[in-house]
Amino acid sequence: MEKTADAVVIGGGIMGVSVAHFLSKKNIGKVVLLEKQHLASVSTGGSAANIRSAYSNPLTIKLAMRALEMFENDKEELGGQSGFCRTGMMALLGEKHLNAGMEVLKQEIALNTGSKRISIEDAKELAPKFNYDGLIAATYQPRAGYADPILTTRTLAESAINKWGLVIHERLSATGFKIENNNILGVKTPKGIISTPIVINATGPWGRQVGSFANKNYSIRWSREGDLVKELPNNFGRFPIIADPTSRIYFRPHKNNMLLAGRDYPKEIEPLDINNYNSELDDCTIKLIEKGLFKRIPSIPSGNYKQGWSSIYTITDDWHPLVGPDIKLNGYFTCFGGSGHSFKLGPPIGEALADIILGIIPKINIRDLRSNRFEDGESFSSAWGSGNRA
Ligand SMILES: Cc1cc2nc3c(=O)[nH]c(=O)nc-3n(C[C@H](O)[C@H](O)[C@H](O)COP(=O)(O)OP(=O)(O)OC[C@H]3O[C@@H](n4cnc5c(N)ncnc54)[C@H](O)[C@@H]3O)c2cc1C
Repeated sequence: MEKTADAVVIGGGIMGVSVAHFLSKKNIGKVVLLEKQHLASVSTGGSAANIRSAYSNPLTIKLAMRALEMFENDKEELGGQSGFCRTGMMALLGEKHLNAGMEVLKQEIALNTGSKRISIEDAKELAPKFNYDGLIAATYQPRAGYADPILTTRTLAESAINKWGLVIHERLSATGFKIENNNILGVKTPKGIISTPIVINATGPWGRQVGSFANKNYSIRWSREGDLVKELPNNFGRFPIIADPTSRIYFRPHKNNMLLAGRDYPKEIEPLDINNYNSELDDCTIKLIEKGLFKRIPSIPSGNYKQGWSSIYTITDDWHPLVGPDIKLNGYFTCFGGSGHSFKLGPPIGEALADIILGIIPKINIRDLRSNRFEDGESFSSAWGSGNRA
């Protein structure tokens, strides 16, 4: 194993692999990535991987728009295939959620995302088989779509290995840091120490545990979140990604004549033990998803689902990730905590963080994501109130 590196990235989900890809591409030198299981094996592999820009603040909208640009041009921007499929995205709004939906839309329009308000009649053209009872309006973003999270992660990794010499060790954990005089000097592993001046903690759910190697104590909660995949009746037809707060679910087309659905805003946090949880989808969650789906698509048969899984949201106090340099420990950077948003945000955040590490001004200023924003009283708020829609 390498004894030295110019940068060590810990964590092989979309966040870590994105930073490692862009650090390698931008010529930092030798980059080593450590992944204790295998690439995309935790939150990233369980992601619905929707890419859309309906957010309540300009920074997240800008990052999401950069993400769309990257996924649309995946070969040039991400090094190969991401499985991006453009479907459009529609948020269905009843009276209770209309104001929040319009507040988000106002912010998106200011940044030219192409999102617009549409009538229920227009919505019926996009998804004719749905039941629109109780809904007043919808918002629609034609550019939105979804990708394949495992393929995207592999593409970012393999292209950087082949083109720029990124080194990835799967099944190898970081177990500690070597630190002297507030400078990071290396990462400890069961196979020895890798000396390095730059370490990126991109360990998702374990961001807090790995942060404790440097005496950091991040405020993090974890929630069990899952998805269900069902076959659709023949000739069901096309429909966009749907966010449906009235039915408390999201759903989207999936591969060949299937549908992927999960519980959505407003949803309670379901605490779990991140080191020992059941990755199957429980019956209660299946029933709640089925209930929401039946309300919106009465023609869809219940039961008979093909696949389901549970994974993890890693949640910070304002549901936005902790990204950037640590102000007290030179060479130590964080890149985790993206709750339900960071599949799409992974590549643009990886690109921006790589620039920051290299001393280049990033295309998008991500200073507001710094981990000490809470002490500075500068956390994010959401048009939807507190909870899982940012
Ligand atoms: C059901 C579900 C649906 C979602 N839908 C969407 C969506 O539609 N759109 C969207 O943008 N986002 C979505 N998300 C959120 C998105 O998937 C996550 O925000 C994102 O995948 C987080 O990536 P990550 O790299 O931070 O974490 P992870 O993918 O969890 O990666 C962290 C990695 O670090 C490794 N690791 C931990 N400790 C160590 C150590 N000591 N040494 C070495 N390696 C270590 C772990 O093994 C893991 O592989 C969804 C998430 C879930 C669960």
